[in-house]
Amino acid sequence: MRPRIGVTTAIERDGGWLGMDRHSAYCTYIGWIERCGGLPLLLPNLDPSAADDCLASLDGLLFTGGYDIHPSYFEAEPEKHLGRVDLKRDRWELPLAQAALASDLPLLGICRGIQLLNVAAGGSLRQDLVHDPSATIQHRMDVVGGDPRHHRVETAPDSLLRRLLGESAWVSSAHHQAVDRVGAGLRVTARATDQVVEAIEGDGERYLLGLQWHPELMEAGDPATTALFESFVAACKARLDAGRLGSHLA
Ligand code: MN
Repeated sequence: MRPRIGVTTAIERDGGWLGMDRHSAYCTYIGWIERCGGLPLLLPNLDPSAADDCLASLDGLLFTGGYDIHPSYFEAEPEKHLGRVDLKRDRWELPLAQAALASDLPLLGICRGIQLLNVAAGGSLRQDLVHDPSATIQHRMDVVGGDPRHHRVETAPDSLLRRLLGESAWVSSAHHQAVDRVGAGLRVTARATDQVVEAIEGDGERYLLGLQWHPELMEAGDPATTALFESFVAACKARLDAGRLGSHLA
């Protein structure tokens, strides 16, 4: 049985037909999970009271990219260059992420997803790198051509990313915010060469990985990306099998 992996979505206005709102997620996330043996399930933005039931029906959860998180969630005021925020998504995903962190579900966060996990764990964000002189790298590949091998990251010793990627790797970059103060139970496991935080992991045994870059943009078959998504799906599969064994014994 394939592990059920939730994929978060955003509500967007349909540009065609009747111009109604719909939930959406990029096919690239879904494709990588499917190819690596998971069963991707799109999660709508629900009332936060549904978070526990939602998690109980999953074996893992991917928090996808999207708009900025409102800084009130980390007790900061909006700075001048804060980007567009998505209040409906924040209202659902922050409690969902907090409940997910309190569970033992394997968690993967990408772009907005790493930021969400960090804020849910009590951390904070840098609200805009573009106007921050200490961020010396262009972290938005979308404004300079979009090559998914955009800048380097250096990984931390004794981390999942060190095992998956080695000491350094070329990654994509399509963000203007980044992790600032690191949340409880998390540690930084990759930085760009300008020291911007590019990845976090849990400091315990459970699978908890946040990536500021977009591995899902790599073409199907890319070896490092395959290893990365396979590691996530394997963790979800292990949790599924452990739960089935537990229910059998009970
Ligand atoms: Mn970057």
